[in-house]
Amino acid sequence: MNGQSISGRDGRLQRQGFLIVLSGPSGSGKNSVMNAVFPTIPNLKYSISVTTRPPRKGEQDGVNYFFRTEEEFEQLIAEERLLEWATFVGHRYGTPKDFVNEQIMNGNAVIMDIDIQGAAQIREKMPEAVFVFLLPPTWDELRQRLLRRGSDTEETISKRLLKSQEEIGHIVDYDYFIINDDLAKAAEQLRHIIMSEWSKTSRVDLDKLQCLWKGRVEE
Ligand code: 5GP
Repeated sequence: MNGQSISGRDGRLQRQGFLIVLSGPSGSGKNSVMNAVFPTIPNLKYSISVTTRPPRKGEQDGVNYFFRTEEEFEQLIAEERLLEWATFVGHRYGTPKDFVNEQIMNGNAVIMDIDIQGAAQIREKMPEAVFVFLLPPTWDELRQRLLRRGSDTEETISKRLLKSQEEIGHIVDYDYFIINDDLAKAAEQLRHIIMSEWSKTSRVDLDKLQCLWKGRVEE
């Protein structure tokens, strides 16, 4: 499957890359859902964020996050190398600008897992991005998931749960929402959203498309 280009007599018709912002309470399953979608869409790239939060067990620098000190994070801000950044439950998180811009220029879709503050900044800068909110099925299930993860203290879990109430209040700002009560179904829904977005006429050079089509008809 190639979601990026259409072969034509005069070459390939490049589609415009785009950004997918995925938000949702921590524990809603954003990583699991994204991981299930990646193998099915080759032109989908993940934007690895920078954070000052310490790595959880099993997390790797340059894979899950770029783990950086406060000073290093400050420097990234000063050098304007972050597309957006925010503080979340005591730690800072930000999106490296160059990666996102390069991928979009190359016609890829880029998915980023960011909080509601970061999403608001992207909405200002890139209103053509696609905004998706992932919800856990219930409050109790969210709590259970955070406890099962076993990586945060009781206090952090309470803070994250409190934060999730505020986050859910912002769901109206998003284009789509997905309820993650079944991983496979949630992943399929996200996949459909991305594939539909690829098909938008606004993401293709319509003049070129018409030229290619005319060429075909006159053959
Ligand atoms: P966690 O510590 O559970 O990995 O992430 C905590 C929160 O930070 C999540 O809501 C996640 O979406 C958000 N987050 C991760 N990366 C970024 C980022 O680059 N920018 C912003 N604004 N939020 C992020």
